[in-house]
Amino acid sequence: MGKRKSGPFSGQQISSNFSNVTNFPTFFMIKRNSTVNETFHTVSPFLVEKAITETIGEVKSTKKLRSGDLLVEVHSRKQSQQIVKVKNFSNIPISVSPHASLNSSKGVITCGELLNVATEEILKELQSQGVSHVRRISIRRDGQLLNTKHLILTFDSAKLPEHIKVEYMRLSVRAYIPNPLRCFQCQRFGHSKTSCRGTLTCARCAEVGHDSSRCTAAEKCVNCKDAHTSFSRNCSAWKLEKEIITTKIKKQISYPEARKLVKSMTPTPGNSFVSVAKKSSSAPSADRNTDASVVSNSQPSESLTREPLRGTSSLGVTGFTTPRYPSVLSPSVFSSP
Ligand SMILES: [Zn+2]
Ligand SMILES: [Zn+2]
Ligand SMILES: [Zn+2]
Repeated sequence: MGKRKSGPFSGQQISSNFSNVTNFPTFFMIKRNSTVNETFHTVSPFLVEKAITETIGEVKSTKKLRSGDLLVEVHSRKQSQQIVKVKNFSNIPISVSPHASLNSSKGVITCGELLNVATEEILKELQSQGVSHVRRISIRRDGQLLNTKHLILTFDSAKLPEHIKVEYMRLSVRAYIPNPLRCFQCQRFGHSKTSCRGTLTCARCAEVGHDSSRCTAAEKCVNCKDAHTSFSRNCSAWKLEKEIITTKIKKQISYPEARKLVKSMTPTPGNSFVSVAKKSSSAPSADRNTDASVVSNSQPSESLTREPLRGTSSLGVTGFTTPRYPSVLSPSVFSSP
């Protein structure tokens, strides 16, 4: 199995200049302080623009959300410190706070040398580079949980650094893309069993009223109706879901926005993504790539893509892709006629 050349993984002397780590919040929510629920839907954009430039200068972007609140992205640490102090836009009282989720990002590093180092120690050593959390990816093999050399790092900045320094090593950081969350009760994507409002549906035959544990009926997928189980990685609906999540993270947009974008890249409306993905899934490399080039240099690569045991979350243990490199649903999928 060929090693990817993306990262010089050992023995590299490098400088300690990691200036690309930002380490301060760049996305801020601005709400109107109003007892009668007034929002920015009724405020002149001229007033907003003028108020922002006069208080903190020109910002990277300003968006009005559906809620009527503003989402502002700032350029610099200075603006980041200034914006939270702003109390009024002209005569309109406001409150400013860092956005709850947009100011952090998750990346994956691969490092055999850290295989036997505790994640607490790794966190302590990497904190100065903006790392706020470390989780090791483990895989289940023959009922045993095994550590891998892949680590998921959470950074306290919206922009993922391209590299991270581990003493004399320089490791490339790939964006972490979680697998689609599939409900173990109704088998649909996007929620878990605990919040399911659907009915118990068999993951093997798609019939309602029983689970798949003792089912021997013919395989049928709940989500795409094809002849495979609902947890199959060949499922076109799963691949579509994965592509939406990938787009959401790569472009830092909301799930609905990402969904719209992915759908709009589908060649023919109506003859949707599903049939396109189906065609391409017979290509020789498609299957193996499904879950990530990241896993291609680890020995037990298939197990990363395997359906986790009943009752375990697919999010924690299974795969991820590296959007900076081609993944299974790279644009070539969409460009076919
Ligand atoms: Zn459900
Ligand atoms: Zn069944
Ligand atoms: Zn399917």
